[in-house]
This record gives sequence, structure tokens and C-alpha cells, in this order.
Amino acid sequence: MRIAGIDIIVDWSLLIIFALIVTGLGLQLFPHWHPQWSAATAWLTAIAAALLFFSSVLAHELSHALVGRVNGVEIKRITLFVFGGMAQVEHEPGRWPAELWMAIVGPLTSLVIGILCLLTAKSGLPAFEMRDVASVQRLLAQLDPARTLLLWLGQVNIILAVFNLVPAFPLDGGRVLRAILWGATHDLRRATRWASALGQGFAWLLIGSGIAMVLGASVPFLGAGIVNGMWLAFIGWFLNNAALMSYRQLLTRELLQDVPVSRLMLTRFEVVPPQLPLETLVDGYLQRSDQRAFPVVDGDQAVVGLVCQRDIERISPQERERLTVRDVMRPAAGMAVAHPADDALDVLNLLAERDINQVPVLDNGRAIGLVRRADILKWLALHGSPRPHPG
Ligand SMILES: [Zn+2]
Repeated sequence: MRIAGIDIIVDWSLLIIFALIVTGLGLQLFPHWHPQWSAATAWLTAIAAALLFFSSVLAHELSHALVGRVNGVEIKRITLFVFGGMAQVEHEPGRWPAELWMAIVGPLTSLVIGILCLLTAKSGLPAFEMRDVASVQRLLAQLDPARTLLLWLGQVNIILAVFNLVPAFPLDGGRVLRAILWGATHDLRRATRWASALGQGFAWLLIGSGIAMVLGASVPFLGAGIVNGMWLAFIGWFLNNAALMSYRQLLTRELLQDVPVSRLMLTRFEVVPPQLPLETLVDGYLQRSDQRAFPVVDGDQAVVGLVCQRDIERISPQERERLTVRDVMRPAAGMAVAHPADDALDVLNLLAERDINQVPVLDNGRAIGLVRRADILKWLALHGSPRPHPG
């Protein structure tokens, strides 16, 4: 699905949450609020509520993406998965105000959706005084399915806004905090280190509370129960990983930015002619080096394609006898390539995006190098902060 030029990807893990929400609402909450509803009414309302919930998560992520676009940060895809949504950013925003607006607009969108839902649910109803639990129960019972749905959706969106505003990087609140620290220190790396340390602290707090709940403790604001505790610990573990990864990603980006591909490409590599028999390619080239992909060049050394080990593995040894490189190579048209002056970071993104392991580096149509993931990792290992030697 595409909205405003952004790919929307629905991860299979979303099904788990969908099932949990629908059963939670259809089996427990709605029958509790409306003992007189038929089972069909409860289930249908639950399904509609879950679908609208995902739509509001999508609206939250789209707001990040659109404000990002206005600020020059292109977002190619949004993934909806078990913890909600995630907008994939290709580059960090270049200035802190852009980061601030991009981060804060998501929770604001959820908050506005939440308030609008609650106001619509309430409009036209007689003034109501909250006297005791029984009167609340009576009021809830009067609500029709549409108002019931809006009441739940409104609450959930407000909870979503509040949770995302917790200053734990990489949650939105943590990004807001990082933008402010960035503005104050003019040092993105230090701001990210502090914000992700706080994010990890918050994550460990969730893990600790979760474990305490599993062991039978009751935690203020969070409640009690084994299942709730497990969820909390799981969310904490996920957040901890995300905080660590975001910081490492920033270090990688900083190390690779403005490094031309020509500095880290492999320059000792072999090329093969298109008429080479596949058997010779296997026995004489693939087996004799650790190169897994060979640029295919014609008589003038111009690149006409790329032949990869992955493609050869699919062909049986008997079949190989009749084939040449030309029959199995990926043709140059449509092939992912790099140029010597390209940014290494862009090439790393290209490898990830196309899910490939290497690209040939072309200069005027001739192969002057190869860049593999391993070469980029080697460069990072040689140019990153020194690693303490074991022992
Ligand atoms: Zn957000």
C-alpha cells in the first residue's frame, strides 16, 4: 500500500496485536460495559475498533513522515508491527529544530485524534455527574456501539500520545529531548548518547517492573499480574535494544558520511568474460577465491552484467555443463552499481534496500572496484574507536 509516495508495510506480528485487541474488547471489555449487547454486536464493534486503532497509529506515523518531508528528510516506508508503527528515516534531520518538530508532531496527532474521539462520543449526551461506580456503569450501558467505540479509541490514542512522550530515546519524547540537547550542546553525538542512556534507563525500569509483576508484586501506575508483567518486560527489552541500536547507527553514519566509495572498495578482484563456461567459473574462479560475485566484461572491458554465487547454486552441476556466464548473469541494465565518488553511507543504504551483498563500482562503464558489506564493516572496524584487545 502507498500513501503520499510512502510504502506502508504491515508486519505479520501486527496480527498478534489485532487478535489480542479484538478478543480483549469482544470477549471482556464490551460485554462488561454492555451486558445487554449480543455477541455479534460486541465482536463487530471490537473488530471495527481494532481497525480504527491501526488507522490512528498510521496517522501518527504519517504525521512524522510529512513533517519530515517538509524539512527535507525523506521517509520511504512506514512499518506497522507489534509495537505500533515505525517510520524509517534514511538520514537524520540536519538541524535540531527539524528533529524537534518531526518528533513532536506524532504524539500531538494522537492527542488530537484522542480528544476529537472523546468529544464526539460525548456530544449530544445529557450532562452527567459522576457520583459512584454504578452511575458510570449506567451511563456506559446507554452508549450505542459507535459512541462506545469512540470512547475506547479516544482513551487509547491519549495513552499512545503519553507513552510516546516519555523522554526515552528512540521514543518520540526521547527524540524531542535529543533535539533540545542537540540545540543546547551543538553536538549531535553527545545528545544522542545522553538521550539513549536515558532510554536504556527507562527500558531497564520497565524490565525490572515487569519481572517484579511476574513475581507477584504490584507496581504503582502499572498494576500487577503475570501476563502484564511479561508484556512490560518484553517492551522494555525491545526499547533497550532500540536505544542501543540507534546510538550505534549514528556512529556508523558519522564514520561513513562523506567517505567516497573509492576509499573502501576492493580493488583486487577478478572479472570474467560472458562466453566463459559455467563449469570454468565454478572450478577456476568461485572455488579459487573468496569473491562471490564477478563483474562480466566484454572485449572493451565494459561491464555487461554481474554473475553471483547465489545464482550458480540454483543450477544443478549437470545443467551447468551446457551453460555460459551470459546465460545466468544479471544484465547491466537495472543492476545496482556505485561510482567512485559516491558516499559510502549511500552505498550501505543501497545494499540494505536491495538486499544484496555487493555492488560493482563503475567509472565510465568500466569496473574499477567492488564494494561488499564486509568491506564496509572492515572499514568501520579499522576507523572506528579502538576496541580493547581481549586478554
Ligand atoms: Zn511517533
